Amino acid sequence: MTESDLLRRHRAVLPNWLALYYSDPIEIVSARGRHVTDSQGRTYLDFFAGILTNAIGYDVAEISDAIRRQLDTGVLHTSTLYLIRKQVELAEQIAELSGIADAKVFFTNSGTEANETALLLATQYRRSNQILAMRNSYHGRAFGTVGITGNRGWSASSLSPVKVSYVHGGYRYRGPFAHLSDDGYIAACADDLRDVLQTTTSGDVAALIAEPIQGVGGFSTPPDGLFASFKEILDEHGILLISDEVQTGWGRTGEHFWGMDAHGVKPDIMTFAKGVGNGLAIGGVIARGEIMDCLQANSISTFGGNPVATAGAKATVDYLLEHDLQGNAAKLGDRLLSGLHEIGARHDIVGDVRGKGLMIGIELVRPGGTEPNPPAATEVLEETRSRGLLVGKGGLYNNVIRLAPPMTLTDDEAEQALDILGEAITAADHR
Ligand code: PMP
Repeated sequence: MTESDLLRRHRAVLPNWLALYYSDPIEIVSARGRHVTDSQGRTYLDFFAGILTNAIGYDVAEISDAIRRQLDTGVLHTSTLYLIRKQVELAEQIAELSGIADAKVFFTNSGTEANETALLLATQYRRSNQILAMRNSYHGRAFGTVGITGNRGWSASSLSPVKVSYVHGGYRYRGPFAHLSDDGYIAACADDLRDVLQTTTSGDVAALIAEPIQGVGGFSTPPDGLFASFKEILDEHGILLISDEVQTGWGRTGEHFWGMDAHGVKPDIMTFAKGVGNGLAIGGVIARGEIMDCLQANSISTFGGNPVATAGAKATVDYLLEHDLQGNAAKLGDRLLSGLHEIGARHDIVGDVRGKGLMIGIELVRPGGTEPNPPAATEVLEETRSRGLLVGKGGLYNNVIRLAPPMTLTDDEAEQALDILGEAITAADHR
């Protein structure tokens, strides 16, 4: 296959480690609703939503209008040294939605920067640089966050300043406790947490950071209650709980507004990004006031919480609340999960179907076992694309198909995606 001119130029000047999907990568040039169109004029139903950046779909009038009103003032940004009305309004709204008592919010430009800030806060507050993280996790691409990412494929440096220890719990399908019941699994992971604390730390750990559902890790979903049992142990030692809600926030999991709510515990710190801007670059940290205010020196983000990003994000949060997109995610998530379980029952390359709401993973395995099958995932990715559906890939072994459409998904679009996925999985099943 000949590489397009743009691809050749991309490869010449952009880093080798910047991954591109598809043997023949696509360039998206326009989009509307849940559909994107590429430079060849082909339209796709988007079931990855730009890795969940697109919470409510493309070209939504309410969002475009909010951004345009800001553009019309002539102020894209001046400085976060001045008051920004939309930043204050959005912070008030997010603090309220967080359910964290006495919450304060700091805005960043990405999830990475949000997690870096969470690490800064937790380590300063606790005066410790020891962090507990989950095996198979992903928290970002900067120096501190690669250091706590528990997936070697996404941890570009081992020279991080953070002292990290990893615990079991996030990735159940292939782990040593996979065969246990939910309660047995939670008890085994809690024992592991105690053991890791006892044997690999000096006890005065700053925080445990966790994704309620592991995103890059293949939408790996621990049983509800795992983090409640972890929190009890953390509280015995004064260790903070940080919930990385970069993928799981804003109602995407259907049953709850925040992923951590499924465990019945409130974290001390939450981080967010991706969907909240519906495509604009915005992220942030929410923390109890005393934790947020523990920094003694100044710390500014030049662009974090700028007028355009906060106007777009405020309109996005208003939209998803007014249209009950969490309810839609719950309803269509259930439909997709049951359709995928039916497909999975017909193909033994489907090892696991998991997830919540509009965050669903399909783990592909070698026939007759549980050995990872990354070529099958690549094939499903290409086969869905050729049938007009964009999906994601992930997991420790790159063998998990990830589905995360915009939360405005319709019933018809869900059925269409199920049909295409059924065909693509059949094509990849070479028995
Ligand atoms: N945390 C999680 C759970 C993520 O999935 C990601 C991005 N994949 C990040 C943090 C980092 O976000 P960003 O790419 O915006 O820096």
